[in-house]
Amino acid sequence: MIELPTLPTIQGSDAVATPILGIDLGTTHTLVSVFDAGGARILQSPEGESLLPSVVSFPIDGAPVVGSAALQRARLDPLRTVHSAKRLIGKGVADLGRELATLPYSIVDAPNRSLAMIDLQDRLLSPTEVSGHILAEARRWAAIALKLPLGQVTRAVVTVPAYFDDSQRQATRDAAQLAGLEVVRMVNEPTAAALAYGLDKGDAEFVIVYDMGGGTFDVSLLQLKDGVSRVLATSGDTYLGGDDFDRAIMRHAAELIRERTGVDVWDDPAAKAALRMAAERTKIALSSAEEADLVYQDPGAGIALRETIDWRMFQSWIAPLVQRSLDCCMRVMQDAGIPPEKIDEVVLVGGSTRVPLVKAAVAQLFQRPAKDNINPDEVVALGAAVQAGVLGGKVRDILLLDVTPLSLGIETMGGAVSKLIDRNTAIPAQAQEGFTTYVDGQTAVDLHVVQGEREMAADCRSLGRFFLRGLPPQPAGLPQIAVRFTLDANGMLRVQAKDQKSGVAAHIDIQPKHGLTDEEVETMLKDAWQNAEVDMNARRVADIRAQLDNVVRAIEKQNKYIQHLTADQQERLQDALEEAAACGEINEADKLKGILDEVEESSFPLAEALMNFVAKEAIKDQKVSDLS
Ligand code: ADP
Ligand code: MG
Repeated sequence: MIELPTLPTIQGSDAVATPILGIDLGTTHTLVSVFDAGGARILQSPEGESLLPSVVSFPIDGAPVVGSAALQRARLDPLRTVHSAKRLIGKGVADLGRELATLPYSIVDAPNRSLAMIDLQDRLLSPTEVSGHILAEARRWAAIALKLPLGQVTRAVVTVPAYFDDSQRQATRDAAQLAGLEVVRMVNEPTAAALAYGLDKGDAEFVIVYDMGGGTFDVSLLQLKDGVSRVLATSGDTYLGGDDFDRAIMRHAAELIRERTGVDVWDDPAAKAALRMAAERTKIALSSAEEADLVYQDPGAGIALRETIDWRMFQSWIAPLVQRSLDCCMRVMQDAGIPPEKIDEVVLVGGSTRVPLVKAAVAQLFQRPAKDNINPDEVVALGAAVQAGVLGGKVRDILLLDVTPLSLGIETMGGAVSKLIDRNTAIPAQAQEGFTTYVDGQTAVDLHVVQGEREMAADCRSLGRFFLRGLPPQPAGLPQIAVRFTLDANGMLRVQAKDQKSGVAAHIDIQPKHGLTDEEVETMLKDAWQNAEVDMNARRVADIRAQLDNVVRAIEKQNKYIQHLTADQQERLQDALEEAAACGEINEADKLKGILDEVEESSFPLAEALMNFVAKEAIKDQKVSDLS
């Protein structure tokens, strides 16, 4: 008889692949997205907002408040309302220059560690914790929008600025963990923008990503080649963005208020927060109109201002700021040694690129219109969703491979891997193997497809899982389930499972190379070699355990025949079963094998008794049927 490896049992009837979110954790705004049947799309809050203000307010007596609600609280409680945490994340006080002077709260180093903390007077707050609250809110939005329980929304691609160092990236990862999210991939913001535009698939090689957000300006020069995006150089100004445009309008308003009422709003944090919001509204209106009203009132202080601002005034205030951004663009090209005429595409990112002067200035510098047809404050989040789609196998990689870099296989009972296609197999390739069930009456099997050289599935890379459902109930080990791997010339893997008897079938399509850099492949290989011995043992242990489990179950089912055994035989079997039940701690394959052998041997008389009984019954049945 052919021995078929057994497949794990199904976990729960409605276990489904969990989605991978795309998250743009911005200094000013955070967006969350997903890649599904319709492509990449932004997920909205239950109230219909797409932009989650990256602001968290910490009331002295109550739970933290996130987003627009926190923004509202900025006026009431400016000292306990934290914005721009991204400026502080993963940095020590010593790394913070101008930040210190511009923030309303004081910053101290964490005890024993050089990581900046915000002093809320009653406690120290880490920027990681602030970002954690923002990510948790984004996750909540996503769960509601996707109609999934929060427990199924646990993975995300998170974007970070290209210049973020290890410490800033790690702190961002930690923040995600606080929010219950595993970061499956971190993507540089400019790369995400290029992905959203699908530039990785076109002819463009040198791409400028011009990102002017709320508080920061970043410009990156990317080289897209062979489906790989490289950041050649970055430049920018951590204090240049839409906030400066707002401030220009605020300064004008504050001057008018001082002239007319003698009140200095600049010194009052609450008044300043309110004036800031009014100025931002005016600025946004000026992106689509030639003039807009600036409205600000504070009845308590006897202030009521309504002033028309026209775009020429506004442009003259912001022109020097825009020029500064152009200087950074020149620098980035100089650093990379790529002249402007070699730039193939310019992509606009960030809400502030909606300002007509910004757009015009960039177009003039590069002598071409910049790409702006994707909403500039959504483009990074959409790119994150595209990357999530790639990781989830929903987007085809453009890379063509000629051999599989890593082995492909399926998880079997006990967590071991059964390899179907070995690494370095030329593609296209096909392989098939038979499997069976582990539990009596099992109607579904969980097929977990993995990639890697390690012996245990948990140490390999999970490529996806699917279920073969609707199997007719049969005793364990009887069904013959054919699992076929088909790897096409594009590196796309199709895994099909079919129950030979009933014809019930299911399949999954996977892009195995997705998201793996050559370096990652190398690391996985090295890992496998270094762990080969440990793995072999783990694998044997898992296999023996699974067999032992099977035998013990079978014996338990035949319990009622034990009475036909002699006292000696019964005692020996009982001892063996007790030893098997207590083997949980044993991790030596040879010892386990000894126990398994003893259980099998001592159960032999039981099998004999059973066979005798079955034979007798068969004769009885025959007689009954002969009579009828
Ligand atoms: P970040 O990446 O820093 O979180 P965003 O890309 O969300 O920032 O950009 C936020 C900035 O964009 C804010 O200063 C906001 O006022 C500005 N902004 C948004 N829409 C417009 C518009 N229509 N015109 C001008 N500025 C805008
Ligand atoms: Mg941004």
